[in-house]
Amino acid sequence: MFDEKDVVLEARHVTRKFPAPGGRTLTACRDVNLKLYKGKTLGLVGESGCGKSTFMRFLVSLDIPTEGEIFFHGKDITRLKGEELRQNHQYIQMVFQDPSASFNPKMKIRDIICEPLMNFKRIQASEKEETACRLLEMVDLPGDFADRYPHNMSGGQRQRVAIARAIALEPEIIVMDEATCALDVSVQKTIIELVVGLQKKKGISIGFIAHDLGLIQSFAHQIAVMYLGTIVEVLPGEEISSKAMHPYTQALLGAVFDLNMDFSKKIESIKSEAPSPLDMPPGCPFQDRCGHCMEICRKTLPALRDMGEGHQVACHLYDEK
Ligand code: SF4
Repeated sequence: MFDEKDVVLEARHVTRKFPAPGGRTLTACRDVNLKLYKGKTLGLVGESGCGKSTFMRFLVSLDIPTEGEIFFHGKDITRLKGEELRQNHQYIQMVFQDPSASFNPKMKIRDIICEPLMNFKRIQASEKEETACRLLEMVDLPGDFADRYPHNMSGGQRQRVAIARAIALEPEIIVMDEATCALDVSVQKTIIELVVGLQKKKGISIGFIAHDLGLIQSFAHQIAVMYLGTIVEVLPGEEISSKAMHPYTQALLGAVFDLNMDFSKKIESIKSEAPSPLDMPPGCPFQDRCGHCMEICRKTLPALRDMGEGHQVACHLYDEK
């Protein structure tokens, strides 16, 4: 399913540390290795504050890692500067959770959508009208919405505008940061259907950040589970329910609400709170919440091991395999 020749972006040993009060260090991402494939969606899931947004921000150059590289077309994009960095923004676009925060409320939708095209001199001012209508129709909005302001639209419509703006430059990658979590469930579904449809038409690769495993497993081709800055499991999206191995992934799955779920079974909740990223214990980051914790888990950080067929897991339970 995942062919190495289709890798469009590869993160190698990406770590991000922040200085914290008292001379301490907060490690938001620890030795992250991930690949994004052409025309596929990589879902990055984990609890709030686990480092998933920190990681995705590297892809759009909103931050740079302390260590490691991120290769896109053979170039380490964490080292780009000046005009080369600016040009690279055309190929990797981002959709945020709250589009209102990234839109200028005084700009009409036409200008918001066409702004990136104007910045890169892809269109003339005289072409804005026709371009905005075409892009609005691609996200299933009427062309005459071009004349509106963001406050004249619903949350779902604004997110469609954000998607129209993101695809305007025909990017190879779109990063979506909790892009549907502020929307009603029914609207979330239509936005996901729109994104999946656009991906099929245009072959876009998508990095989708979510804390909702139930949502992401419905459309991601590959899912990476992050816990306290560490990737603990990576597997094909369609296999997450049946083949998840890591105790944390299994706990997340246990918490997914599904209308078809067996309510006679006890829902396993995750024990206690996650430790502070400032006080990370040696060994496995999940040890204090794991019902399978062993002596080795308190001493040695488990490496992400290849289980075959696109499945990797970091847990001492599977050391022998
Ligand atoms: Fe649990 Fe140990 Fe696996 Fe960590 S390494 S998830 S503590 S069994």
